[in-house]
Amino acid sequence: MNTACKPKQQTITIEPIPDAVILCLHDIGREGRYAISEKDFGLLLGELAAYRVVSLHDWLKRRYPEDQRRRIVLTFDDGYRAHREIVLPELRRRGMGATFFSYADQLKADAGWRRLLPALEDTFSFGSHSWSHALLRDIGYDQLFRELFLARQYMQTLSVKPVDAFAWPYGYYESEGIRAAAAAGFTVQLSVDYRIATAADAALVLPRYTIFGRRSVEQLKEILKRFEAKKPEKPDRVPRQQ
Ligand SMILES: [Zn+2]
Repeated sequence: MNTACKPKQQTITIEPIPDAVILCLHDIGREGRYAISEKDFGLLLGELAAYRVVSLHDWLKRRYPEDQRRRIVLTFDDGYRAHREIVLPELRRRGMGATFFSYADQLKADAGWRRLLPALEDTFSFGSHSWSHALLRDIGYDQLFRELFLARQYMQTLSVKPVDAFAWPYGYYESEGIRAAAAAGFTVQLSVDYRIATAADAALVLPRYTIFGRRSVEQLKEILKRFEAKKPEKPDRVPRQQ
């Protein structure tokens, strides 16, 4: 019997996007409800040394597959000056990545960030946090268009990489808004839902943990403990026809 045309079955392994803890940080270098002192920031990064700390985009692209460590995604909201003066040098020194979310009004007021954006290394990425940082609830079409579409268009003039991620101001979102943000060109959306992010979340809205200024190190330790207790997803093994 001639078997030349008989399909051979082979199994291929599809690596899913691994679970990740996505942290949301704000100002660094002072003390406040959302601000973290420089000393505590150093301690936080020290706690993360056993993990692969990456940008949102590197996590979603499954970069560094040879690195078996679990993923932590660092995000910094609101475009603080400290992000470029304290955070970036510290992350570079430790070989960590991160994603920065800024809003148009803030970018227009900060020439330093506008100059820096096109020069950001590949380990860092950037996303939109709206135009004015308004609470995007019960607002009309015109304002929503400005906060989503026009802000993205403006930021795209500053960034060489696609501005495709949107972090909802105050973590607030609703189903109509999710559709509007997708229509404005955002393929990734983030909120603050205090749980571990999975591949399934990437299709809708990714949950983050806001780290608070007081007891930030203890808070992070509790999150990491929950992360360690959660079993990693197994790769899907699917037969492939040849
Ligand atoms: Zn914000």
